[in-house]
Amino acid sequence: MKAADMHCDTILEIYEKRQAGEACGILKNGLHIDLEKLKKGDYLLQNFAVFVHMKHMAERNQPLPEYAFMMIDTFFSEMRKYPELVGIARSYQDIEENWKNGRISALLTMEEGGICEGKAEYLRIFYELGVRMFTFTWNFPNELAWPNRLEQEGAPAAYFVPETEQGLTEKGFEFLEEMERLGMIADVSHLGDKGILDVIAHARRPFVASHSNARAVCRHSRNLTDEMIRGIAEKGGVIGINFYPDFLRNQEEQGSPMKVSVTDIARHIRHMIKTGGIECVGLGSDFDGITSSFEMKDASDLPILEESLRKNGFTEEEIEKIFYRNVLRVYKEIL
Ligand SMILES: [Zn+2]
Repeated sequence: MKAADMHCDTILEIYEKRQAGEACGILKNGLHIDLEKLKKGDYLLQNFAVFVHMKHMAERNQPLPEYAFMMIDTFFSEMRKYPELVGIARSYQDIEENWKNGRISALLTMEEGGICEGKAEYLRIFYELGVRMFTFTWNFPNELAWPNRLEQEGAPAAYFVPETEQGLTEKGFEFLEEMERLGMIADVSHLGDKGILDVIAHARRPFVASHSNARAVCRHSRNLTDEMIRGIAEKGGVIGINFYPDFLRNQEEQGSPMKVSVTDIARHIRHMIKTGGIECVGLGSDFDGITSSFEMKDASDLPILEESLRKNGFTEEEIEKIFYRNVLRVYKEIL
């Protein structure tokens, strides 16, 4: 079954390993994702995120856009080496063309809106460089919006605290409009509760939560409430199911050794379908940004999820929509 995955952190991993003096490339590596694993997993499209950790950059005194350029260079120079296996996608036509020619599509995305330092000019330049999806925040507040907060005194650190007061800033709304004008997909993963509701209320085009699960199934505040799932679905958007154990199962139910499994993914998908309909569910693995992927050790094991969904009673048509059709529908409309 073909697959389209809306989020991974592989480029960051490759870049950082190289910075540390280790040889690492996109064809074959020890990470969750490389081109050989994507081919084995029958992927037709993988999003590759440019991610910048704002605090680390501040400590190193390194400008955010500069770090982003280094990662974008890593993306292009790696992908360009294997034109027979992978094609860079800037439009829906590129994706179709790559598919026809037996190539995987690689789409560039950005995770951490702070990279633009509040300048719409930077957003436009990143668009010209091929960035087609953009999160407002990671886990820090920036010029555009507030995320759900990381910690609260006395609370388990792994559970974020929902941010229900502060959402998008004026600049954040301006960026949303600019993304819609450009044909860049707005991504609400990591954004605070208020911010997500702001986007739902103001978006005029479909948008995504590229790697987020259902809060009714697992209460982590990186996951989406039913109101958010319905809101994203009503705008014609899609939500990428994240494979991170802490977003799949409440910590006290994870067990030791870890009992989280692909059937937990099926539970989240069931809930999303019940809440927002079959059209709103896609994949957003978060491979290479997560610590454990249980039965699926890496991208080559994605058929394990396909088989599990079948065993859990999902129809072929539903699996197709979840694996790639819903994501492609949004890309076709926006890109
Ligand atoms: Zn993330």
